[in-house]
Amino acid sequence: MTDSDTQAHLHLETRAVHAGRADLEALGVHALPIDLSTTNPLTDIDSGGLSYERLAAGGDIEQNASAVYQRLWNPTTARYEEAFAELEGAEASVAFSSGMAAISAVILAAGREGRRHVVVLRTIYGGTESILSAGTLATEVTFVDSVDEIAAAVTERTGLIIGETPANPTAELANLDSLVAAAGGVPLMVDNTFATPVLQQPLRHGAQFSVHSATKYIGGHGDVLGGIVACDDEWAQRIRHVRSLTGAIAHPLASYLSHRGLATLPLRVRQQQSNAQAVAEALHGMPGIERVMYPGLPGCDPEGLVGTQMAGPGAMLAIDVGTYERAEAVAAATKIFTHAVSLGGVDSLLQHPASLTHRPAAAEAKPNAGMLRLSIGLEHPDDLIADLAQAVAAA
Ligand SMILES: *Cc1c(COP(=O)(O)O)cnc(C)c1O
Repeated sequence: MTDSDTQAHLHLETRAVHAGRADLEALGVHALPIDLSTTNPLTDIDSGGLSYERLAAGGDIEQNASAVYQRLWNPTTARYEEAFAELEGAEASVAFSSGMAAISAVILAAGREGRRHVVVLRTIYGGTESILSAGTLATEVTFVDSVDEIAAAVTERTGLIIGETPANPTAELANLDSLVAAAGGVPLMVDNTFATPVLQQPLRHGAQFSVHSATKYIGGHGDVLGGIVACDDEWAQRIRHVRSLTGAIAHPLASYLSHRGLATLPLRVRQQQSNAQAVAEALHGMPGIERVMYPGLPGCDPEGLVGTQMAGPGAMLAIDVGTYERAEAVAAATKIFTHAVSLGGVDSLLQHPASLTHRPAAAEAKPNAGMLRLSIGLEHPDDLIADLAQAVAAA
């Protein structure tokens, strides 16, 4: 295949395996090469300077031009970006050293021309909430609790609307079509980390940015930190410009691992989802568990978004065991679930949002003290259910 061939007609599984590999045959290799050069030879002063100028401004590399310096451009990272854009149905994607670096770059890029006000739909990842409420990026922020409050919160200085669905940690869903309508032309960034492009593609609904912590499902094995933004070419250029200045480009080894992770992403997400459905159903109504929050359970998806906006309910769920003390006891008693932050990997994790991921959240946005968030992995669901049942019974 050549670069100009579109893979849009192929199924997601096929694209996940083949995307971003168009130049490998000409290079005479089969596996993704890792190019670690931090600097690149220049043919002459003139062309080196021009390439530097173009890349630093966020432009794409020209054919046969020097990449100049790894902070500006890297072939291993560019291949991964091309592949990821294909999975999101986007023109482009821009890869970062972490999810928070990706989110920060979008906020900075959208805040141009004085539009430094951001409207955020809660519930949202604790780090996103925290960087905005602390004013670290010199933004003003208005938090809203429902899509209906967005339009009234927007001013002429609003540069960005932020939403997350399913939301971290409660797995609540937001309606993307309603979000786009409420944004009324203000760019919308959707944190798509929980859904992955396998289950949901926010750009197809009219969002401008789909952002991910690639640390989670995309890497998928708990061994790579990364972030990525899918968007159109024009925004990609602005975001790469921010990235070249702030130096938050994904390292080539991280890009390699993330790109490799894409091949098995559809398979992993669907199996983890099927396991999560089984776990959620088994926990629902179990003595000692007051509530199970999972979009695949009756009552947790009032707008019927699973099967329409989202191809399935995903593999993240939350349970409420009533009190901080009981949550602490359950977290200490599981044997297969590791008590650890992060999510989306091949092995199951459990954590206590109120004291960990959502510790910095404002009091009114703090998760319940008895809530535990579960990331369901690839183990057999019966073993996961038995592990949770014994931990809850012991608490
Ligand atoms: C983990 C996470 C982030 C932050 O990503 P990092 O890779 O840890 O910087 C952002 N959003 C969501 C939904 C996350 O789960």
